[in-house]
Amino acid sequence: MKAIRVHEFGAPDVLKVEEVPTPKPGPGEVLVRVKAAGINPYEVAQRAGTYAIKPALPYTPGSDAAGIVEAVGEGVKRVKAGERVYTARTLSGSYAEYTLAAENMVQGLPEKISFAQGAGVWVPCGTAYHALYHSAQAHASETLLVHGASGGVGVAAVQLARAAGLTVFGTAGSDKGLDLVKREGAHQAFHHAKPGYTDEILKATGSRGVDIIIEMLANVNLAADTKLLATNGRVIVIGNRGEITINPRELMTRRASIRAFTLWALTEAEAADIYAGLHAAMENGTLRPVVSKEIPLAEAARAQKEIMEPGAHGKIVLIP
Ligand code: NAP
Repeated sequence: MKAIRVHEFGAPDVLKVEEVPTPKPGPGEVLVRVKAAGINPYEVAQRAGTYAIKPALPYTPGSDAAGIVEAVGEGVKRVKAGERVYTARTLSGSYAEYTLAAENMVQGLPEKISFAQGAGVWVPCGTAYHALYHSAQAHASETLLVHGASGGVGVAAVQLARAAGLTVFGTAGSDKGLDLVKREGAHQAFHHAKPGYTDEILKATGSRGVDIIIEMLANVNLAADTKLLATNGRVIVIGNRGEITINPRELMTRRASIRAFTLWALTEAEAADIYAGLHAAMENGTLRPVVSKEIPLAEAARAQKEIMEPGAHGKIVLIP
């Protein structure tokens, strides 16, 4: 099969397409024929060698794929050959024509979700779900700011929160992104490169502040976020690319908190909640991953460059 292989950490051109043996599923494992693989920002940091988790070289990147079960190993009961699935992590990497996963990493993909959309389910939608329900413990009557709503995680957070009854504000850095954020369910959208936009957000709450902020770029926004919170508000840090100084007094006067997580540290019970919640949300039409670009597998380097560029509009996926 063809797979992207990384032999050394570095610039995008270390992502090379190679011919490698197709994996065989051992006991408890599932082989998936990949129809689309999702590109996530963590894979860029991992390729550069700057991510907290460094895979052993050489490796095939990626945890998100959607496709069809090709074969199952001994003892696998939950899925069978021919079924449509998405992966929530893999054993062998998803940037490939086939990917090997443990049985509990493979989840059914509802018919109404295309394979390209399915490649944008696990990391983006799983993160949005975990942020809203486990970390923020969101309630229907609350106001949410999705700070960075035009990308993979942001669009999912907007869709889930709108359907759950929250008042949803989202930000984007382009007109196209702002249109997307509103189309996908935000009550109001704000341009995060426009001076004074945080004043506009505060004004939109009648100066009360927002209850929850899902933050995609904490090193830029965290200090401003603490001033946007209502009493008992919480910032959920999803993305961060550096350091920032904040004034803790802003939190004290609001009884507010900053919470953070990485999806890698999910408990089994949390993962089970997420699988069930995402499945229901896909089936009932709440969750509709937005695919911005489908790029051939061999051009993984271009895909990883483009995900780091401003002007997000949903998910970039690779097509083997
Ligand atoms: P993505 O699809 O590349 O989207 C990035 C988002 O950040 C876009 O909406 C972008 O908006 C926005 N952004 C850019 N500049 C911003 C600013 N100054 N303020 C607020 N938002 C800004 O990435 P993603 O998959 O949604 O992931 C978002 C971040 O979360 C990444 O850093 C990723 O590594 C991280 N993440 C963490 C976890 C975890 O477990 N903690 C899981 C998934 C993702 P424009 O392009 O419109 O400017």
